[in-house]
Amino acid sequence: MLKNVTVSDSKLQLEFSKSLKKNQIKASAIKGKELTRYVFDFKNVKLSNRLKKYLKFNGDIKSVRIAQNRRDLARLVIDSKKPYAIRYYQKAKPIFYIELPNSKLISNYKKSTKHKNVKKITSAKKLFSYVSKEPVGNAAKVIDTVYSTNLKHQYKIMVDAGHGGKDSGTYWHGYKEKTLVLRIAKKVVRRLRNLGFKVEMTRSNDRFISLGGRIRKANRNKADLFISIHANSISNKKRVNIARGIETYFLQTTRNARAKRIAAKENREILKGKDSATKKVLLNAVFTGPKIALSNRLAIDVQEHMLANLRAHFKGVKDGGVRGAPFYVLVGAEMPAILIETGYLSNPKERARLFNPKYQDLQAKGIVEGVVRYLQNREKEME
Ligand SMILES: [Zn+2]
Repeated sequence: MLKNVTVSDSKLQLEFSKSLKKNQIKASAIKGKELTRYVFDFKNVKLSNRLKKYLKFNGDIKSVRIAQNRRDLARLVIDSKKPYAIRYYQKAKPIFYIELPNSKLISNYKKSTKHKNVKKITSAKKLFSYVSKEPVGNAAKVIDTVYSTNLKHQYKIMVDAGHGGKDSGTYWHGYKEKTLVLRIAKKVVRRLRNLGFKVEMTRSNDRFISLGGRIRKANRNKADLFISIHANSISNKKRVNIARGIETYFLQTTRNARAKRIAAKENREILKGKDSATKKVLLNAVFTGPKIALSNRLAIDVQEHMLANLRAHFKGVKDGGVRGAPFYVLVGAEMPAILIETGYLSNPKERARLFNPKYQDLQAKGIVEGVVRYLQNREKEME
């Protein structure tokens, strides 16, 4: 339990009910254009109800937010106007310290604080006098390795975990598509939020939503992108060990052959030196109107980054390609929308991988990297 959070001597003091083990603490940092965001995850920690969840500062630090991210995970997010080597340590256990240099808690904030908290600030000061600095970590290291999006705008992403509730999706030997895709979707959401995206899910638990309801929610929320996550299967028993791989789909309506020929002629230049699959994809993109063209490009970026991430750690990951298809869930989307088939649950080997948390994590990482790459390219074009 995180009992109390106070600020004293440019330090954030977190009072836990018992001292934290090192593996309970995960710190990371994301460097954006205007803000550097430090994220501290505390595993197996619940927040006290009386805890102040939002602290506002004057100076380099903008704010500190605390939330129960999952039932077993408390998250503290520090937004800083400048990147700095943030230090954190735990000496007078169970108090955990995070340094907040060049910042003052905004004074009128204290007025709105309950008396209990104000009292704690003074007593924590006393505690602090015998604490010597003993870093258990230095988030500055993390800054160098984390991924910075460098995006100018904040985007809203709607993440859609397929199926749910009475609709299990495909179902093999007790492994359900609805369960798998929700796990991957949640990993995608976590990563996107860590990078500063606004994210919503069509469902965050095991409940049924109609296909139309999913895209309606995305439209209503004015999402910039719609990402639907599914798993594939094949009913032909002879092919269960053969059919495998990752496919990313975008909505495609029918086009006539003549139009295709014209597009091919007009686009010869852009197609020079490209392989036939890429050619086909590019032609489709040119021809299917702006939103579908964008969906197509989003699909290409996501597919590419999923494969790259998975192949760095797993052998024989099959590229099922980027394809256009008339998926109902994508119909009516007012934003670029894709549907990812993360793999075949019917294939025993791929099924085992799909339920491996590391594999899921790499898939989520790839999806997020693809989204970021797509948006970066879009911003470049708008310049
Ligand atoms: Zn599905």
